[in-house]
Amino acid sequence: MKVAVVGAGVTGAYLANRIPPEHEVELFEMKAEKNWYTVCAWGTSQPFIRKLVKMAGFEFDDYVLHTGKKMVVDLGDMQLEVPLKGLVTYDKHRLTHDMIKERKVHWGAQVKDPGSEFDGFDVVVDATGLHRSLLPKIEGDLVVPSLEYQVKSSELPYDDFVIRPYPNLTGYWWFFPLGDGMAHVGGGDIHGRYRGEMDEFVKKYHCEVLRRIGRPVRVIPPQYCQPFSKGKAVGVGESIGTVYPMLGEGIVPSMQCANLFVEHLGDPEGYRQAVLEHYKMYSKVYRFVKSKIDGDFSLLRMWPSLLSIYWYMHSNTERYGLETRLWDFYRIATRL
Ligand SMILES: Cc1cc2nc3c(=O)[nH]c(=O)nc-3n(C[C@H](O)[C@H](O)[C@H](O)COP(=O)(O)OP(=O)(O)OC[C@H]3O[C@@H](n4cnc5c(N)ncnc54)[C@H](O)[C@@H]3O)c2cc1C
Repeated sequence: MKVAVVGAGVTGAYLANRIPPEHEVELFEMKAEKNWYTVCAWGTSQPFIRKLVKMAGFEFDDYVLHTGKKMVVDLGDMQLEVPLKGLVTYDKHRLTHDMIKERKVHWGAQVKDPGSEFDGFDVVVDATGLHRSLLPKIEGDLVVPSLEYQVKSSELPYDDFVIRPYPNLTGYWWFFPLGDGMAHVGGGDIHGRYRGEMDEFVKKYHCEVLRRIGRPVRVIPPQYCQPFSKGKAVGVGESIGTVYPMLGEGIVPSMQCANLFVEHLGDPEGYRQAVLEHYKMYSKVYRFVKSKIDGDFSLLRMWPSLLSIYWYMHSNTERYGLETRLWDFYRIATRL
């Protein structure tokens, strides 16, 4: 098979290394090579992602920047300390770059439609993330705007992960350490309440700003992102909603989605079913988050869902790299 992968983000880069060698793969990336960058806070769970990265032939541990011990969740009138079990930041840009540097990449190639230039390809993967350039628009799409600064300072106020959720769980502010006096400070919020907060931080802690980045994150899950394919185009990663809605976490789920694609290469219906099954819990989490955003959350009505989300997070400590305790979860879910 000849596979075109459109988008050289984490999904496209990982996929290019997971498609078995008997197939031919070419990447198409809209950015020029010198402007290409992986917008993200670079947080993930080391014990979990290590195995996925190994499957692509790379050593995740070589890219780790900071290993977390605890994450402070600032609820305004109280602070929770969540024990961390593998949450790290890693140099996502360097790893993604290493994944594509030996591959054939067409830089500066903005693909709008898999037209005649793709005649020689059997499949054209839409790994364009938020853009979803090759698939129909999603009705009722939910995307959360975000802004992030990469900063450096000798006066950083924290030495570990900190998040501050905005009221009604419409997003959160974050501080993710990168080691060596550097950090990602950012915010994602439906109402854009992070505006001004990064500049204040920079001023207060005398930071050098190394990079200002941001883009909206799609938090609507795969169930609502159908169709996953159109003609020979097939969506993989954030283009079909593989982001955990409560956390905006999309690195691991994008890789998992790439693996599902590889397992069902040439079988779009099998792939569709596998994606729907794999991300079933994301729909439940999404409905909970949406009810908070829309202001129609009812503890009584949502209690069974909340319990099952708690249980899912609690039983997936390695997957998320943090320990989910019932009281912490209850407080975050109900106080905000
Ligand atoms: C500010 C921010 C912080 C985040 N922090 C975290 C985090 O700490 N941990 C975590 O797990 N997740 C995080 N996420 C989510 C995660 O980064 C994304 O879900 C993940 O990167 C999605 O990968 P992707 O490859 O599908 O899409 P992307 O990473 O968006 O890559 C898409 C690529 O396609 C290219 N492209 C787009 N359109 C076209 C086109 N028409 N033709 C050719 N190329 C095209 C783009 O230039 C880009 O290179 C964060 C997201 C944001 C925005």
